[in-house]
Amino acid sequence: MLEKKINEVFGDDEPSGFGTGWWSGVLSAFFGILALGAVVCLHYPQLLTSPELRPFYPVPVMRMLIQGVILGAIVLGVISAMLRRKKVLALTGMGLALAATLLGGASVPINGTLHAGPAIGLDWFLLDLLLMTLIFSPIEVLWPAYRQQSVFREEWLLDIGYFLSTHLPIQVTSFLILLPATELTRYLGIPSLVNAVGQLPWLLQFFLAVLVADLAEYSVHRLFHTVPWLWRFHAIHHSSRNLDWIAGSRSHLVDDVAVRGFMLIPMMFVFPHDMIVAYLLFVTIHATWTHCNFGPTLRWLEPYIILPRYHHWHHTSQEEAIDRNFAIHFPWIDKLFGTHYLPSDGSWPHTYGLHNEKLPHGFWAQAMYPFRRRKKAAAAA
Ligand SMILES: [Zn+2]
Ligand SMILES: [Zn+2]
Repeated sequence: MLEKKINEVFGDDEPSGFGTGWWSGVLSAFFGILALGAVVCLHYPQLLTSPELRPFYPVPVMRMLIQGVILGAIVLGVISAMLRRKKVLALTGMGLALAATLLGGASVPINGTLHAGPAIGLDWFLLDLLLMTLIFSPIEVLWPAYRQQSVFREEWLLDIGYFLSTHLPIQVTSFLILLPATELTRYLGIPSLVNAVGQLPWLLQFFLAVLVADLAEYSVHRLFHTVPWLWRFHAIHHSSRNLDWIAGSRSHLVDDVAVRGFMLIPMMFVFPHDMIVAYLLFVTIHATWTHCNFGPTLRWLEPYIILPRYHHWHHTSQEEAIDRNFAIHFPWIDKLFGTHYLPSDGSWPHTYGLHNEKLPHGFWAQAMYPFRRRKKAAAAA
């Protein structure tokens, strides 16, 4: 298995705390990958960058960013090489940075005029991976709920695969589905209702948008847990045995599209377009954060808004909390419908993943899993 091979080649038995050269090595390799990917994007912008995002890029700033990650990969690589006995991480980071530089680095000119058309969103994958890593990885490393859980825990590569799978086809997942859907607001919106809501203070509008979305999410999420053939899709999201921010991206495409669709449609009747876009930004950050391996919790806030401990209980394989905590923003929605579970002693689950169920390993096997089971069941019937 690829993941095992990577862990063998890059890992070692030495301590991985600060000052051991581990983190500088990991970051060097990470920056090296980003640098090389970005330079390849500069060489093939028509094929590898999303036309819908291009107009928003401040090119000089992007070039500085690329220069920054190249430099970062080299400096961190040198630090790691000095501190750590095993030099593979450091050499990989520096090697990738060198390759990026030899390919022209940050100053590769963009030739010709770019036009719209199908493209792979490698730019979006690299940018969002950098952004999410910057936001969530430091808090997981500094204040983890599970100290012994490594960033490179079981199936980390699979979850990068899931992250990749929603980012590379960004034109399909966002520009063909999500954005046109939000545009539908103009047609579905009930004018008197949209106007009345538009008069409310911005914060109240936003609260109402989150509430409507969460009620819709609650219903569809609960259906995915109770209808057996829908569960086969959602089981994939529940198969993670360790939670962290990237585990949140493990989700079957059908599950993803259905949940987003069911959340957006009721919102479109009521809320202005801008509010829906603001909500989409909020849900991305909030839902990712609630999967984090992040220990600190504000107990007085827990009854009002969902913090990581709450959603972690949704992912446990412990019987007492199975089919509990369907809401993703407001825990009192679960209270209202009798599906709330949060131990008052502040404890976290001991085990995560599926209860009495085994999923195949690997992205494609999991993508086919819901369909395979149905065929087998149909053949048996
Ligand atoms: Zn669930
Ligand atoms: Zn989840």
